[in-house]
Formats: sequence, C-alpha cells, structure tokens
Amino acid sequence: MNRQQSHTQDIFPSVVGHHEIKEHLQAALVHDTISHAYLFEGMEGIGKRTLARQFAKALLCTQPLEGHRPCGKCVSCQTIASGNHPDVIYLNAGEKASISVETIREGLVQDMSVMPYRSRFKVYIVEEAHRLTVQAQNAMLKTIEEPPEYGVILLLATNIQNFLPTILSRCVRLRFVPLPYGTIGQALTERYGVSEEKAALCAAFSQGALGRAMELAASEEFGALRQELSRFLIELPTKKESDVLQFEDFFEQHKDQQEQIFGLLLLWFRDLLVWKEMGDERWILNRDMQSAIVDSSAIYSRGELMTILSVIGDIQDKLKRNGNYSLAVDWLLLNMVRRTMH
Ligand SMILES: [Zn+2]
Repeated sequence: MNRQQSHTQDIFPSVVGHHEIKEHLQAALVHDTISHAYLFEGMEGIGKRTLARQFAKALLCTQPLEGHRPCGKCVSCQTIASGNHPDVIYLNAGEKASISVETIREGLVQDMSVMPYRSRFKVYIVEEAHRLTVQAQNAMLKTIEEPPEYGVILLLATNIQNFLPTILSRCVRLRFVPLPYGTIGQALTERYGVSEEKAALCAAFSQGALGRAMELAASEEFGALRQELSRFLIELPTKKESDVLQFEDFFEQHKDQQEQIFGLLLLWFRDLLVWKEMGDERWILNRDMQSAIVDSSAIYSRGELMTILSVIGDIQDKLKRNGNYSLAVDWLLLNMVRRTMH
C-alpha cells in the first residue's frame, strides 16, 4: 500500500486495495497501451465490478486528472456512475443460468460494429463471465481476435474453468486476491461508518471480499441469526442432551444460511480457544460478546475446543462438496454434547 502512495496518488481511491491491478491499468492508460480484452478474476464481492466501472471512467473521462485519474465530475464520469453511459455496456445472464450466444451476438458482436456515441472507447463489461456458454464464447472469438480500435472488453469472472483456451489467450488476466481483514475492517469503519466491533466481525466473515463484508454489515438477517445462535451457544454448557438435540430445528429452519451458521460457530469456538490460550481481549472477534466468551471459555478444556473446531472444519468441507446437511448438524450437536456433558 505504501509503495503505491510513495510514487503516485491512487488512481482509483474508491476501490479498496488491489494496488497491483490498479498500477497495471494505470500504466496502460499512461502509455496508451490499452488491451482490447481483460479478464478480472476473483471471488464474489472482491471488487471486480467496482474496479471495472472506475476503469471505464478513466478510459472515457473528458477531463482526466494527473496520472489519468478520472475526474468524477465530467458528464462522462457521472453518466458512468449512474450506469447510463451509452458507450459502457453491461452484459450478464439476467434471470438465466448462463450467458447465451444471443446475448453475446446482439449485445457485443453486433453492437461493437457500431462506433462509439461520444467517446474514444466503447467498453463492454461482461458480468459473471464464467457463465458464458461455449457457443457464446465462440461467438465472441472473432471480435476478441480482431476488435475495432475502440473496443474494450472486460470479462469479470469468479473462476476460469469454463473458458476456452482461445478466449483466455486473448485476454490480459488480472487476479484479484483477498484483502487482509484489517484492511476490510478499516474500510468498513472509515468509509461506511460501521462500528469497530461490527466491522471486525464482518471482516472476519468476508473471506477477504469487501463487498461481502458490506453486505453482512447491512444485513439484519445476519445480525438476528448471530444473536439466536449465540444464545444457544451461551446456554449450551448448562443444557441437557435432549435440549441440545432439539436445536436441530434451528439448523433446519436456517438451512439456506448454513455457510454463515458454520462460519459463526467456527468464530465462536475460535474465540473461546484464543481467550484460553492468550487471555487477551484484542484477539476476540465477537467483541460485543466478550464476557460470554470469557465465561464459556472456562468451561471447555483446550483439547475439547480443538476437537469441536476440527469437527466444524470437517463439516464445512463436507458441505462445500454437497454433503448431507442434516447429518452434518447431528454430528456436530452430538460432538458438542459429548464435549460438554460429563
Ligand atoms: Zn471525468
């Protein structure tokens, strides 16, 4: 981060992190070596779309600042910000599971044969490009190989498994790596006014994607889920085996949020272990529940906490591979019972 600040101002200050990618794009702007096709690769919520929009601004800005920074004030920048610029075209799957050959033929291939309305470039932002069908990719192949001078295609994808090698070889590939949790927490508090306690928790949950952290910070559902789960966890050591098993219902009701539930469980028991090992509240992520963490931590032995954490980790792996959710829940609850009933 300091490296970026040392030699020039951040070209896209509204995008948190991703300095190497920004530098690459800035160099292309400064040296006028813009490629006709870029592939932005990275997980959901990591900032691909935000950066694509900023790059489009930089390409089309009529009054760029030093270092090709978009001014943010000209008509071009403002219409891009509101999503209404005629030379910035968004393509996506819409309601469908994949991006069809028709969408690409009409929206990209034919459209690109028409000159830009009022700019030097025409920018095509293909969202969730990993959903392009093989036919759609084949349809854009010729355009990507011999684009008009003004055509710039930005493919945004979470992974590249479905791309044809012929498409990949024509794109400049830019990989978005997860942001450090500290950077995310800081962005949440400084830019979006989220409390520090909440920011730390949402950052820990984001897997390094700021968009995800922001979604969680704004989600009432997530807050409610966490409250309910915490109540159960706080009372867990005092419950009878039959009470614990009855908690199956809660897991069933929130089956759609299984990823969040197991993530929260992992954080909870992680905090118990961290407190036990270090006794330092700065390392607790559930900061607003600090006293409950301290109390619960005393009830378990280090070994018991390690076992529960490894069971939760195993379950997360299994669920990622489409394992049976109900079985996983039962397994976890039984483990918790075994650990806590003496
Ligand atoms: Zn501008």
